This record gives sequence, structure tokens and C-alpha cells, in this order.
Amino acid sequence: MLNTVNGSSVGSGEGLDVTDPATLEHIDGVDRCGPAEVDAACQAAAAAGPKWARSEADRQKAMLACAEILAACEDELAGLLTREQGKPLAQAHQELRGNVRILQWYANLEHSHVVLRDLAEELVVATYRPVGVVGIITPWNFPVTILAMKLWAALRAGNTVVIKPAPTTPLATLRLAELVNQVLPPGVVNTVTGGAETGSLLTGHPVVGKISFTGSTASGRSVMQAAAPTLKRLTLELGGNDPALLLDDADLDAVLPTVLLGAFYNAGQVCQAIKRVYVPTAMRDEAVARLVALADTRFVVGHGLQPGVTMGPVNNGAQKQRVASLVADAEARGARVQRVGDMNHDLPGHFVRPVIVSRIDAAAPLVTEEQFGPALPVVAYDDVEEVVDSLNAGPYGLDASVWSADADRAVEIATRLQVGQAYVNSHAGPPEPDVPFGGVKASGFGRELGVRGLEEVSELRVLRVARTVTA
Ligand code: NAD
Repeated sequence: MLNTVNGSSVGSGEGLDVTDPATLEHIDGVDRCGPAEVDAACQAAAAAGPKWARSEADRQKAMLACAEILAACEDELAGLLTREQGKPLAQAHQELRGNVRILQWYANLEHSHVVLRDLAEELVVATYRPVGVVGIITPWNFPVTILAMKLWAALRAGNTVVIKPAPTTPLATLRLAELVNQVLPPGVVNTVTGGAETGSLLTGHPVVGKISFTGSTASGRSVMQAAAPTLKRLTLELGGNDPALLLDDADLDAVLPTVLLGAFYNAGQVCQAIKRVYVPTAMRDEAVARLVALADTRFVVGHGLQPGVTMGPVNNGAQKQRVASLVADAEARGARVQRVGDMNHDLPGHFVRPVIVSRIDAAAPLVTEEQFGPALPVVAYDDVEEVVDSLNAGPYGLDASVWSADADRAVEIATRLQVGQAYVNSHAGPPEPDVPFGGVKASGFGRELGVRGLEEVSELRVLRVARTVTA
């Protein structure tokens, strides 16, 4: 599949193979874009900027036309997404529908200015103008959702964009860009494909005013360094190690199905997945037995296009290896590893058997690091204050959830956790267009979605109008 630059398909479609993570079969090829390709895309975006920024009404109209095209092509895009990413087809459809929801919400949002003072002597207004060219860099776990969280706010604010998808999941993104280029002016949405090298060419390019990046914390650090010489604005959505903290009055029947889904949706490859569960020691054995029984009935692992499959493979070999080594390490430390789910298929892909891991030391890497796969550690605790302190002492700060029959008690604890999102009796879920999202500490900075997300791809310009000229 080809990239789109200045409204035209460009490149050879060669250099990088995209494979189906369930079968390891070749699906398509894409370019590995170098300096010339990245420069052409950035220059096209810069040239298209002034006209695109001029009319809010034209942008809204064009974005609503994009929504129509993307809704009409949902089946095609969902099929591509499942094939390249691995997720079950129903989940790919959810991703595509969420994309259109976010697009429509931003297209209809009115937020051009805020009156700060309207006095006899002076009018003071906060106005917003676009940053210019926004570079969008996305990971492979939710290629469309994460793109949507960045792209539509950027366009609504009057920016033009250059998108670099992850090298293992570029296809749905490239097709989406081709489709919206049918109704957008040339140069407004451009794409470049490749790995970290292509990403760093974008991050270092002088005409790019902002980088909106989602990926690992390690890559986020490199992005920040590469963006420094040109003082680019940054939004960094990075890794997470979300805990679910069950209090001693939590109703296990009610709580555990939601906790399990929060951990294993998309084979655990969710920045906001529950990556560790804390349970009072007295409830540990009961909670683990129920989690194992539930997981056994809920997760059928196989090809995402196969009806009845509820968990696909992980996206790539490196990720499979990482999860396997964290689980092996936990087992070597004496933890109890219970293998769950139905693995009844003979596909050669990057499949990981889901596991529930208990009797694990809270200092084991499976607990303290981000596994990003279907391996859920259950950690027993005796003192909830010690858990709160240890969570706040950790590096990440994306989300946390507290589960209790007493919501007030849970809120009191949740609001002491150093995270971007604190949940009581739920955990994450699909992004909602009007609710800002982002992390603190090593989980990054900046927010996407909501009015705040629009402001983050805008520059604030204060307009002061004196009612009379005074000496
Ligand atoms: P990754 O950091 O390896 O890659 C993400 C993207 O950045 C890819 O497109 C990659 O090619 C590009 N990239 C890598 N190094 C780069 C560099 N130096 N300069 C510019 N671009 C570069 O991450 P991944 O393995 O694709 O994704 C998994 C990670 O993403 C996990 O840590 C996960 O928690 C995180 N993530 C975070 C969020 C969030 O919103 N906080 C959402 C999803 C995933």
C-alpha cells in the first residue's frame, strides 16, 4: 500500500513487509520512508496550511464529509485492521466506530475563543490559532483509535498533519488517509511509513511545529530529545502499569468480570489495561480461583477473523518474547502461573497463552514493569496504605482503579493516587470524545480528547481591544 503526499499516492510500496500476526503470512508491503519522502510530506503539509486554517466552516464541512466516507468504509478498514494487528474483528469494528464518533465530535465542536474580560474600557479574548504542521506518531496496539485521538483535533484546530504509523500496523492508517484525501484539500493529511528512523526524521523536521506521540516511555524520551533543537510542542502518551486495587469490601462476583476484561481486552495490549491486581490476603485465593474460572470460559484465542474468537495473537514477535520472559521470570521466582483460555487452534503466529499469576512477590518485574500482554499478576496485601505508597512511588502514572462497595471510601483512596485517570468501580474503556485523557510522570504529559485536546494542538493568542485610546 502506498503513502499519500499532497493528495497523491507516492512510493513503491516496498521496503517493509506487513504480516498477519496470526498466520505470519505476508499481507502487503509499504515504503520505508527516508529523508526525501519525509521532507516532501512535511513541505506539502506546510504549503496546505494557510488555506486550511482560514475557514472554520469549511473545515467542519470537510471533516463531516470524512466521517461519511469512513463510516461507509468501516468493513474494509476493520478487515485490514484485524489482519495487520491481530484483534478480533468485532473489536476492530468498535475501533472504527469510535474513530467516527471522535471525528464527528470535533467537527461539531465550537471553541474558537473565550472572552476573559468584557469591560467598558477593554475587551480581552483568548483566541486560538493552529500550531501549523503536526507530526502524528502512533503505536501498533490501537492504530486507528490512537490516530483518531490526535488527527481530528489537529485538523479541527486548523493544522495540517504528517502521520507515521507503526511499521507493523500501517495499512488501516494508509487506507484511511487515502479515503479522507478524496474530500480534503491536497496536503492536509499526509503519511510516511517506516520505523523509529522515519519517526525521528519527522520529529527533527524544521517545519513541524508539534509532535503528538503515543508509544513507549523509552521512545518518548528520544522524541523529546529530537524535538528540542527546534523547540517543538509535544504531547507524549507513554507507557502505563495500571493497578486495580480491590478493597476488603469489594463484591468479587460483581467486580472480577470487569477487572478481567480490563486486563485482557486486545490481548492485554492496552496502555490503560489493568496490569496488576491488588487483593487483600484474606480474599486472594477466592479471587484467583474465580479469575481463572472466568478467564477459562471467556477467552477463545485464535485468528481475529474467525467467528467466536475473543483474543487474537499479540502483534509481533518481540512482544510475545517480552511477555513470555516476564512470565518465566515470575515462575522461576516461585509464583503460581495458571494457564487459562481456549488455545484450540494450529496457527503459527504470535500467540500468547493467557495466564493468571498469583503468590507473586510485589517486586517481581511482572508486577513492576509494563507487560503489555495477557499475563495478569494478582498481588496480595495486608495494609492498603502501604499499597498506595508503593503505587505512588512507582514510575508510571496513567490510570488506577479502586474497587469497593463503599464508593466514598474508594474515592478517598483514588484521589490520593498520582495518575491521569482515577477510576472507582470501573477501569478505562473506549475513549470518549469529550473526556480528556493522558498520563503523568513516566506515562507522559499533555492531554488528548475534549476541549483540552483541541487546545493542545492550538496556540493561545490573547487579543486585547482597548475601547478608547488613552494617553
Ligand atoms: P514504540 O515506542 O516502540 O513505537 C511507537 C511509535 O513510535 C512507532 O510508530 C515507532 O515507529 C515510533 N518510534 C519509535 N522510536 C521512535 C523515535 N525515536 N522517534 C520517533 N518515532 C519513534 O511503542 P510500541 O511498542 O509501538 O507501543 C507500545 C507502547 O506504547 C507501550 O509502552 C504502551 O503503553 C504505549 N502506549 C501508550 C498509550 C497512551 O496513550 N499512553 C497508548 C497506547 C500505547
